[in-house]
Amino acid sequence: MVTDIQETSISVINDIYAQQKSYHRTVGKTTASERIKKLKKFQKNILKYRKELQDAMWKDFRKPAAEVDLTEIYPVFTEIRFAIKNLRSWMKPTHVSSPVTMIGTTSWIQYEPKGMCLIIAPWNYPMQLLFAPLVSAIAAGNTIILKPSEFTSHTVRVMKIIIEETFDRKEIALVEGGVTISTALLDMKFSHIFFTGAPEIGKIVMSAAAKYLSSITLELGGKSPTIIDETANIKAIVQRITWAKFINAGQICIAPDYVIVHESKKEELVQSLSNQITKHYGSDAMHSPDYLRIINAKHFSRLKAYLENTIKQGGKVVYGGTLDEAENYIEPTLVTDLPLESDLMQYEIFGPILPIITYKNKEEVIELINSREKPLSLYVYSQSKKNINYFMQNTSAGGSCINMSAVHVGNPNLPFGGINNSGIGKSRGHYGFIEFTNERAMFNQKFPSAIQLMTPPYTEFKQKLIDLTIKYF
Ligand code: NAD
Repeated sequence: MVTDIQETSISVINDIYAQQKSYHRTVGKTTASERIKKLKKFQKNILKYRKELQDAMWKDFRKPAAEVDLTEIYPVFTEIRFAIKNLRSWMKPTHVSSPVTMIGTTSWIQYEPKGMCLIIAPWNYPMQLLFAPLVSAIAAGNTIILKPSEFTSHTVRVMKIIIEETFDRKEIALVEGGVTISTALLDMKFSHIFFTGAPEIGKIVMSAAAKYLSSITLELGGKSPTIIDETANIKAIVQRITWAKFINAGQICIAPDYVIVHESKKEELVQSLSNQITKHYGSDAMHSPDYLRIINAKHFSRLKAYLENTIKQGGKVVYGGTLDEAENYIEPTLVTDLPLESDLMQYEIFGPILPIITYKNKEEVIELINSREKPLSLYVYSQSKKNINYFMQNTSAGGSCINMSAVHVGNPNLPFGGINNSGIGKSRGHYGFIEFTNERAMFNQKFPSAIQLMTPPYTEFKQKLIDLTIKYF
């Protein structure tokens, strides 16, 4: 898995930045039709390079072509189609009513672009997580510099071709590089920074943004729990959990990070998950064309250490556990009997290892979840409305699914994002458009203002008017 990224030079970045700086107001004045035209061209060029994208992601980490279609191209197309359908109404000023004391005025919200934007993306969904926010930023009328992850060099190369064939760089440009380039970009003044990645790096981005008071969207990660209660129908749900955990070899921000299952269902769950994993990837996932590799040696070693430390701390591997360093391969793995202090229960896993812990009382679940950072996602599998309500009302998360995992991100009518440690701000659909937009408050004084009746000097008559206003309006 080669990662020979062709780092963009600082002088080229400075040049792009200067061009975008002098062009962003022109882009900001574009009409809905002009932006829609750009989105259509973008979609056409992504489709043109579908095969190249599939080949590149296979080379980067053996992502199967079907998953490139379903989880990279399709979500971006969903965003493009949704924006094309709704952009005219999103851009239209929203008129709002005024209080009676403001009689003779009109007020409305005007949607103006934030201006110069920076999008920094991770490697796990290298195209989706770069291009989906890009759609929102284009729809909102911004100029954009894109900085994909340095770990998926083949995919980056194809995305660069797509961007360069579709857009002029004075409007949208993709720059290549790792931490050095990212740091150099974060040193520049942007109106908005949209970052997807780890919470620790999110903090670096947030402090960099503070320098210019740039607004930020932070799409971060963490440990997303899956609760399975005593009423859950294991047979019916096991495929959903297996799919969400082991697709992309677990390298998903909204994968079930760990399962907390009612003790009465543990044995059935372990057995069913084991059978289901074998159904998806065969008895030897290493030879399955549908199973990915870990992105690189660094992440492979991180996961290996989590697993080894957890086993030392008492964890039992009840399925899988085979690792191949030469291939960055980790078999889908289930671990039980692990202490809460173990590595697998302390750190975001972001890989194909699923810890399964048990509970007796619902209160234990709440205590565990609420003693940790608020998760990006929280899933509940249950047939009891009462239990579902209890788990939802007593926890907080960026998003949740009931009797499903991860697919909420696919509904463009829902906001996507985290809360606090798992993220700040929301993306996708209209929420993404708003994130890249300044909702400008507009106020027009059409007739003489009532304020004129209450300006100094405060005579007795004016004081009476003020008294009446306070009392009645
Ligand atoms: P990462 O934070 O290491 O890297 C993300 C981006 O930041 C990359 O482009 C990288 O070059 C850049 N970067 C890394 N270190 C930097 C630094 N010190 N200064 C400036 N820039 C830096 O994340 P990753 O390993 O690519 O992705 C995994 C993490 O991302 C996980 O925590 C996962 O949960 C999270 N994630 C979140 C979402 C979401 O939508 N919320 C989606 C995917 C991944």
